[in-house]
Amino acid sequence: MKVVIIGTGYVGLVSGVGLADIGHEVVCVDVDPKKVELINSAISPIHEAGLDELLRKNVSSGALSATTDLKKAIIGAEVSMIAVGTPFDGDKIDLQFIRQAAKDIAMVLPLAARYHVVCVKSTVVPGTTENVVGKILEENSSRKLGVDLGLSMNPEFLAEGTAVADFMNPDRIVIGAIDMPSSNIIKKLYEPFSFADFVFTSLATAEMCKYAANAFLATVISYANEIANLCTEIEGVDAVDVLNAVYKDRRLSPITPQGRITPGLLSFLFPGTGFGGSCFPKDVKALASYGTALNRPMRILEAVLDTNRLQPMVTVELIRQALGSLQGKRVAVLGLAFKPGTDDVRETPALSIIQLLLDNHATVVAHDPIAIDSMKSNYPELQVQYRSDIHDAVADADAVVFATRWPEYSACYQYVSSRSVPVIDGRRFLDKQANPNYRGIGLRAKELRKTNV
Ligand code: NAD
Repeated sequence: MKVVIIGTGYVGLVSGVGLADIGHEVVCVDVDPKKVELINSAISPIHEAGLDELLRKNVSSGALSATTDLKKAIIGAEVSMIAVGTPFDGDKIDLQFIRQAAKDIAMVLPLAARYHVVCVKSTVVPGTTENVVGKILEENSSRKLGVDLGLSMNPEFLAEGTAVADFMNPDRIVIGAIDMPSSNIIKKLYEPFSFADFVFTSLATAEMCKYAANAFLATVISYANEIANLCTEIEGVDAVDVLNAVYKDRRLSPITPQGRITPGLLSFLFPGTGFGGSCFPKDVKALASYGTALNRPMRILEAVLDTNRLQPMVTVELIRQALGSLQGKRVAVLGLAFKPGTDDVRETPALSIIQLLLDNHATVVAHDPIAIDSMKSNYPELQVQYRSDIHDAVADADAVVFATRWPEYSACYQYVSSRSVPVIDGRRFLDKQANPNYRGIGLRAKELRKTNV
């Protein structure tokens, strides 16, 4: 099938490369000529494990190409997928990119295959695909929905850091559609993934599935952090031990004859600096405000957001407790990406931590294995000294904060510990007993000192 993907960010590019790899002819369209040039040179504009290899393979075979020219791209295409950004504007999701993409498609629809399905992959609130995208398509073209134009909503569940593996090995494929022909064409697109669970549903249900999934995961994170923050107030309690015991409930980690299964969800049930990235924060805010607009306030989600806003402050408070005052102190922040395996720094907790440190007149030295460039381009005004070498970042620091759980940070922990300065484990992945200067979220500092004596 010939597929056009509009928007080649994390979702668009990974989907494009994945669909090309399973046998489709894919043309990625983006308004950013730099991204298009990189993709055509088989260089990925983003960091994702396995993406470079798959991109090289499919660009060199001709299965995937990129362009800024949608008019050329759509010639003969059976499907166009919209994968543009849907940021939160402080009040609701901002649909400007969706509207523009729908209008762009409508203008060139006469060149597409005789029956063409427009499929929304971006995360949008219920009603958007039908009432915004569908309407724009009909108003700006001579095609009619259900006649020579199909409409589908196919939310994407990939996670950054494991995006390629997630796309190529999906656990579920949700296909919302206005009619059977639209649904069948999108189903055919994913035929090689017949091992996955398919959910065929309405457009609005498909839209809601994505929000409900992300809101659930974010809720688990804030729940763990709320428990952790309470544990910090109690002598002799470490939140990691508490949550570990919670995991052991057989309904969370079932016991099979082969042993106990530890579901991936349990990695969310862990203390930390909070969730970030381009999805959870904006999607939870969007769902909460959507609920308010429908006169169904989402009280749990409001609390999830409040707790999450608190976590960078909790982290900085641990540094302040250790150093007394932050003024004039040099703090090394290790980890800028919102999670390991990605260079995405959108709404990363590290940014809030850095901003709080700077507001308190500390000097910040920052390190990340791959996200320094995206940090510099996303936040050019940030007064941070970047170091590409961990040892340089830590040298002369009065305190060290681990803000991302990068595997290489476990390897440098011994060196960091040898410097005898306070170490704040924002992700609770380091050995608390190995360093008398260790402090972590969900752990009472006084209590730890006592056990170390
Ligand atoms: P992104 O910001 O990384 O990429 C969006 C791309 O769209 C950019 O390259 C931009 O230049 C391009 N674009 C904007 N308007 C365009 C237009 N009219 N024509 C062509 N290109 C255009 O976004 P993303 O992170 O890939 O997210 C895209 C959507 O997918 C969002 O709705 C997001 O919520 C959702 N989503 C994201 C993830 C994730 O992990 N990033 C996971 C699932 C769903």
